Amino acid sequence: MSSLEVAVGPKTVFNQAPPLVGYNLYLSDSHLVDAVHRESAAWAEGQLRELGEILGSEEAQRWGFEANENAPVLHTHDRFGNRRDEVLFHPSWHQLMRTSAEHRIHSLPWTEPRQGAHVARAALLMMTAQNELGHTCPISMTFAAVAALRADPELARQWEPRIVAASYDPRFRPAPEKSGLLVGMGMTEKQGGSDVRSNTSRAERLGDTREYLITGHKWFCSAPMSDAFLILAQAPRGLSCFWLPRWTAIGERNRFHLQRLKPKMGNRSNASAEVEFDGAWSCLVGEEGRGIQNIIDMVQCTRLDCAIAAAALMRQAVVQAVHHARHRRAFGKRLIEHPLMLNVLADLALESHAATLLMARLARAFDSRAGDEQERGFARIATAISKYWLCKRAPVVVGEALECLGGNGYVEESVMPRLYREAPLYSIWEGSGNVICLDILRAIAKEPNSADAIIHEIRQGGGADRRLDEYVANLESDLTGLTQQRSAYGIAGSEAQARRLAEKLALALEASLIVRHGSSAEAGAFVSSRIAGDCGCTFGTLSAELDSQSIVAAVADGLEAKGLASRPPTDL
Ligand SMILES: Cc1cc2nc3c(=O)[nH]c(=O)nc-3n(C[C@H](O)[C@H](O)[C@H](O)COP(=O)(O)OP(=O)(O)OC[C@H]3O[C@@H](n4cnc5c(N)ncnc54)[C@H](O)[C@@H]3O)c2cc1C
Repeated sequence: MSSLEVAVGPKTVFNQAPPLVGYNLYLSDSHLVDAVHRESAAWAEGQLRELGEILGSEEAQRWGFEANENAPVLHTHDRFGNRRDEVLFHPSWHQLMRTSAEHRIHSLPWTEPRQGAHVARAALLMMTAQNELGHTCPISMTFAAVAALRADPELARQWEPRIVAASYDPRFRPAPEKSGLLVGMGMTEKQGGSDVRSNTSRAERLGDTREYLITGHKWFCSAPMSDAFLILAQAPRGLSCFWLPRWTAIGERNRFHLQRLKPKMGNRSNASAEVEFDGAWSCLVGEEGRGIQNIIDMVQCTRLDCAIAAAALMRQAVVQAVHHARHRRAFGKRLIEHPLMLNVLADLALESHAATLLMARLARAFDSRAGDEQERGFARIATAISKYWLCKRAPVVVGEALECLGGNGYVEESVMPRLYREAPLYSIWEGSGNVICLDILRAIAKEPNSADAIIHEIRQGGGADRRLDEYVANLESDLTGLTQQRSAYGIAGSEAQARRLAEKLALALEASLIVRHGSSAEAGAFVSSRIAGDCGCTFGTLSAELDSQSIVAAVADGLEAKGLASRPPTDL
């Protein structure tokens, strides 16, 4: 027995980080607080503080674990053989849903359409997504559905008030009997998800009404317990968008059948089903043949939410890593005091801060785009750029942050495995990586003001760093070359380069934001590593001249100041 074991006793646990509980997710995140104030959402401070406090509590963290450990269960039939098509969830799932609905994460910009409403909601979503991401799927689809539903004023009049209500009502009852509703969407079929034009589900019109019967299937339909769905199906005039409620207008169960729930790699709290429509009653949204145009407003909103979710994943992973490194000691000092660990943490923190800046700037564009051509163009292209880039970065950031916890990071209770399994999903749904990059090309070709708007925004960071200015000049000539090449060869001429372009645009945009709104240490580090290329291929390869300490301190100080017990012995 060693002398150390004698001193502390064989069952005494020491040198383990304390649990990261009892902190305010809002107040401890100075980058988020700054973004909320800068992007006109300071009026939501009270609500943000309140939700931040709830989510940092031990109880709310337990909801996240329990909702994932007790996956939803499908009941296709009752014991007499009648179709039931219901999904049962653990009580903690309902707590998560209730908390998000009561904080209006599914509705804030629609019920309080003032400047900064999208930013405030983005900040709320960013916090709740750090605690538990699965339940944000129905919250996000319900939020986004309103954008598409408004294309049909009569449907919006009937349904919107209960969709945006700050109430969660999980009962499987006809919509008029409920205080709050959830909305899902069904586009992906077996033979094609990205290529929705290949949809085979058919819609047959009932007389000369706007009502149709849909026959077919959807291969992925998340949140199948929702009260209604926006569905794409083929009508006589082409692919169209339909509103398909779970109960018909005369109060009967609609012919919407759940086949099974997908056994998913992650996102386990959330149910994703395979469904069949057996002559399901539905109403046309907008015009026949304009299904994609009608549903695109919804998709823009869910893509915004993918970018927010990816920023949230990165933030939570970095917070966990910094917290651990502040408390765990190895080779005679805390991990955070080891120069190489500090380099890794600084590199990760930089990525996370850039992600927060980007998602908040994008959310502001959603606030301003209605009355502002420039912001509309910016929102159009920056949604795709942010969705692509942040969702690509999240899995790598989470993977590296997980390693900062050593073996503990590979164990479920640390939360890191849940973040890790969740991370790749955001790049797949709502348009997979390649599809999003092609959408960037489409925006440049068909809506030239979006290219002008993104360059205009990037140039706002001009003059701060010569290396960034050169990078932007190159990017502009790439865009000019692309336009010329496209007029010569059409879209196919530039497709193969779409990821390169998306990446350059994203990096330039993040750099422009960080030189304006970050510290000088962050600006210098971001431009050196991401723009001037003075870094390696993994995190932790920042140049030795950079001020890693102050970059990490911005994260560590937030945790320190907001009531995390066990103060570490030195300043960081
Ligand atoms: C957990 C989960 C939940 C989901 N929930 C829903 C839901 O609720 N509703 C819904 O409608 N869908 C849902 N989806 C489906 C999701 O949106 C699709 O999986 C996604 O859009 C990709 O479609 P696909 O799977 O058919 O792949 P494909 O379209 O076959 O694509 C496969 C790969 O090819 C690439 N690709 C496609 N076209 C091109 C091209 N032209 N050039 C280069 N590369 C290309 C894609 O980027 C992708 O990497 C869900 C998916 C998951 C994983």
